[in-house]
Amino acid sequence: MSVFLASTQIFPLPAEWVSFFYIICSALFIFGIKMLGKVQTAARGNTVSAVGMALAVIVTILDRQVFGAGKEAFLWLGVALAIGAAIGMLIAKKVKMTAMPEMVALLNGFGGLASFLVAWAEYARALGYPSIAQYLADNAAFNAGFFAVSTSLAVFIGGITFTGSVLAFLKLGEFVSGRPFLFPAQKLINLLLFVACVAGTVIFALNPEGAYAREIFYALMAISLLLGFTIVLPIGGGDMPVVISLLNSLSGMAACAAGFILMNNVLIVAGTLVGASGIVLTVIMAKAMNRSIGNILFSGFGAQGGAASKQSGGELKPISLEDAYYILESANNVVFIPGYGMAVAQAQHAVKELAGILEDNGAQVRFAIHPVAGRMPGHMNVLLAEADVPYEQLWEMAKINPTMPQVDVAIVIGANDVVNPAAADDPASPIYGMPIIKANEAKTVIVLKRGKGTGFSGLENQLFVLAHTRMLYGDAKNTLTQLVAQFKE
Ligand code: NDP
Repeated sequence: MSVFLASTQIFPLPAEWVSFFYIICSALFIFGIKMLGKVQTAARGNTVSAVGMALAVIVTILDRQVFGAGKEAFLWLGVALAIGAAIGMLIAKKVKMTAMPEMVALLNGFGGLASFLVAWAEYARALGYPSIAQYLADNAAFNAGFFAVSTSLAVFIGGITFTGSVLAFLKLGEFVSGRPFLFPAQKLINLLLFVACVAGTVIFALNPEGAYAREIFYALMAISLLLGFTIVLPIGGGDMPVVISLLNSLSGMAACAAGFILMNNVLIVAGTLVGASGIVLTVIMAKAMNRSIGNILFSGFGAQGGAASKQSGGELKPISLEDAYYILESANNVVFIPGYGMAVAQAQHAVKELAGILEDNGAQVRFAIHPVAGRMPGHMNVLLAEADVPYEQLWEMAKINPTMPQVDVAIVIGANDVVNPAAADDPASPIYGMPIIKANEAKTVIVLKRGKGTGFSGLENQLFVLAHTRMLYGDAKNTLTQLVAQFKE
């Protein structure tokens, strides 16, 4: 502490102060992420992390390295910060909850691009010196091999993350078809591109000043950009959330590599946190879909869409609002199964109101939450928390499924894929093996949807034609509001 007190200058900030503040920033990131794990503390966790990031930006600007770049650099930084902050605030206000996954994809992409550009810029700067060793002697404290490994990794991972994320954004936003796109010799081409990237990284890292080092570096840049695109091309449908989570993790790893290039500790810590948490989420989601990460990345899952699944046949049996009311009125045990349609209809408040009425009527009411219901991890939790549905009423899939045979009425609100029994009993279905909420095991099923629209995977759903299923057509919010009105009459 005495060292800090002895150094009074603010511009440029002494190295000890920079390290001290970076430790505080890292602690804020870690506490922020921890708080994101619970609905009650998630919003505060976000603020804590944002404060950490703001502090990291300020300290980095005050750091002697940046200050050394001259006053003009401050001007550019100020302009970039102002534009970036304005865009960020606008997006946060405008983007709908249902469009969050594509926004996350885009942000991942920008993260990857930033690391890619940092690596490229630093390498270009190094080329301006008589040797990389000379550049390192003048600019930083690590050796040429370390610099080469960091730059080539940042380019390799950052390039894949950038183009992969942009394609994921286009697919999820439906700017291009969201289906998997397969082309001849796809796996072989991807394998060759991957091997070329690894070989390029190793050769460059071993001898960054060798005969063709520069060409190898530029080839690595180009191939990694191409590889991100070709890896995501054959992935689509329900696998996209897992891919976005994986790309999120990659963007963290690329940032970590960029942190090593710049020898910036807070970037290394933040990158590592994103990389590690992203990979944990990826594994959790893959498990929820009963798939391996390799199968998700390389199988072209769902490319044939509904054609591969058993035709459901059977008849859809509509039910009137009044009859639905009578069924619910006499039910003792009710489970709501929300899905993407609830998010589209913004029906969470209406669901909460109906749930309250059913409870007052003496029924046990629970909500069954599938890990990939909606369009982003935790989508249903967020919406239901917004409507103040008590956390204890939200039951995870593994916990609620064994109790489904005792449920009098399962109300499916705009869910489709996550309740499709084909996942459990039709080996020909592309979603075979994916765990589902077993709505079909409830005594009566009422499905709220607008018409015959399929879910994200484009598959038919046998649940809708079962003998004990009734279709209550209409926008979910309207239907629920009318049911509430029936109860109040
Ligand atoms: P689905 O996408 O399978 O189905 C949604 C259903 O909602 C449709 O069948 C549609 O039928 C109905 N619907 C749409 N709008 C309304 C409305 N206003 N009122 C009533 N119903 C409506 O949703 P699920 O939640 O069951 O499944 C999620 C899917 O998305 C999974 O395949 C998952 O893998 C994938 N996914 C998940 C992500 C995540 O992280 N959670 C991210 C990206 C994809 P109709 O048109 O007839 O109304």
